[in-house]
Amino acid sequence: MINKPSPNFSSRNGLTPKYICIHIMQGSLTGTDDWFSRSVSQVSAHYGIGLTGETHQYVDEKMSAWANGRVDNPTAQIVKDNLNVNQNAISLSIEHEGQDLSTAPQAQLNASAQLIKSLCSKWNIPLDRNHILGHYEIYLLKPNCPSTDKSIIDKLISLAVGQEELVNVQVPKSKLLKIQQFLNAL
Ligand SMILES: [Zn+2]
Repeated sequence: MINKPSPNFSSRNGLTPKYICIHIMQGSLTGTDDWFSRSVSQVSAHYGIGLTGETHQYVDEKMSAWANGRVDNPTAQIVKDNLNVNQNAISLSIEHEGQDLSTAPQAQLNASAQLIKSLCSKWNIPLDRNHILGHYEIYLLKPNCPSTDKSIIDKLISLAVGQEELVNVQVPKSKLLKIQQFLNAL
């Protein structure tokens, strides 16, 4: 995790994140670092993930990043249920380097899934399709953010859930004994 502080953020006004919004940069990580570092751009996200999985943090999670403030024909239920507040105040945003997230290298998807998993557990956000959204579900004028292939978000969720299972894996004592015996025999 590399810190690249952006001046573009504001208070959540007492609100906390309810969902995570997934974006595509349609550009490079370094270009996005530069754009988010300028106050004139008036945009930011909490995180940006490069093609190699390198992760940059632009805005503190406790603050609103400026990524999803504009709403156009939202299709996500959680957005429709919260139209009275600025979406930035109730969301966390993750940008991804590249032109279309469906072509993302595995390292980038893994890093994203890991981040999603940790944000969900930290902020008590359910790790499901109702709480991991594509930008297009908030703002239809960006129909291909993060991808033309909408199944990519399901893929990210599966990856994140898989990581949860790996963390919680339990090895029965009998198996551990067998592993110990095997190792002793080497
Ligand atoms: Zn977007």
